[in-house]
Amino acid sequence: MKNADRKLFTMFDILVVAVVLISAVVSFLCVFSPKNDEMYCVVKYNGEVVYSEKLENTKEPTELTFVGDCEVTVVMSNSGVFVKNSACPDKLCEHTGEINRVGQSIVCLPAKISVSLVSTDAENTLDAVVG
Ligand SMILES: [Zn+2]
Repeated sequence: MKNADRKLFTMFDILVVAVVLISAVVSFLCVFSPKNDEMYCVVKYNGEVVYSEKLENTKEPTELTFVGDCEVTVVMSNSGVFVKNSACPDKLCEHTGEINRVGQSIVCLPAKISVSLVSTDAENTLDAVVG
């Protein structure tokens, strides 16, 4: 009989399962965590920030037209951002659809305009994010 060994193994198994479960939960939370309430919509033209607004402040969908190398109309709401209309030839920015998570962005190459969601105001340094 190797009851002692068997028991040890079971404990170890439980530990492994626990670790796997915990890391699964952590990655689940990372991926599906509630939308970051410190989410900013940053619009850049040719690499320069031309607009930066906290999405939370956008109570009602707001339509904004940015004039880059062509006109891009962006709709912002507190649920996300999308390009409603663009004068660009490829319409890739329109087809990107809505972005609603930090790190996502819509790029309109012909207009040289990019719309990104970031977790901090473009003017702040990364130090301000912690908290
Ligand atoms: Zn475009």
